[in-house]
Amino acid sequence: SMSKARFQRVTIKLSGEALQGDAGYGIDPAILDTIAEEIKAVVTLGVETAVVIGGGNIFRGVRASAKGMDRASADYMGMMATVMNAIALQDGLERMGVDTRVLSAIEMKEVAEPYIRRRATRHLEKGRVVIFAAGTGNPFFTTDTAAALRAMEVGSQVLLKATRVDGVYDKDPEKHSDAVRFDRLDYLQVLSRSLHVMDSTAISLCKENNLPIVVFDMLASGNIERVVCGQTLGTLVAP
Ligand code: UDP
Repeated sequence: SMSKARFQRVTIKLSGEALQGDAGYGIDPAILDTIAEEIKAVVTLGVETAVVIGGGNIFRGVRASAKGMDRASADYMGMMATVMNAIALQDGLERMGVDTRVLSAIEMKEVAEPYIRRRATRHLEKGRVVIFAAGTGNPFFTTDTAAALRAMEVGSQVLLKATRVDGVYDKDPEKHSDAVRFDRLDYLQVLSRSLHVMDSTAISLCKENNLPIVVFDMLASGNIERVVCGQTLGTLVAP
């Protein structure tokens, strides 16, 4: 069924918040299983799949530093949080029979492989889901930027930004009933209008390398599969 898929290799950016469900913190096991199922469906199509996972459901560096903590220390804690999420997602996928590897940008060899680009691409070629943990490995960055970076490093054709809303709006759709959704944007529109897609570092990286981004609602069943099969969904950010 390879022919059904439009993309051969994709990177999915999954925020930590996507895992927390209604609990407002941590990892909701039911949501985790749902997400693992969605990812499995894509892998079954023969699509080489990488996932960059966030950590905001556990710890966010900026938030802690606003309360007085040293920013770099707080960011390292945030990166550790992403490793916890990565292991949870790995567990969910493997329980469903999907082969995975966690590659961490901060070395933690008892729980994950170190990030080595050529190893990542090899895993992808073998059909394993590669879960990138610890963001870029650097404080003052985000996992959105890590997603853009890794997507380019492993040669993904598209970056799939999974969110809680079904695309990019001109204003917050959870607060304004007249918010309008964009079908398509270019990178400069995102940057100049400060639209909430990803942070500006991530958008700039995508822009310089013409990496298309699809922003879509991940929790609607079957959506990732629809996107990789080329259905228009959510908002496309592209040149
Ligand atoms: N972080 C970092 N460098 C990176 C990626 C992440 O310092 O390259 C830290 C940062 O403190 C951030 C936290 O890890 O707040 C969790 O990541 P992020 O906020 O991107 O997660 P998400 O919003 O996707 O859940």
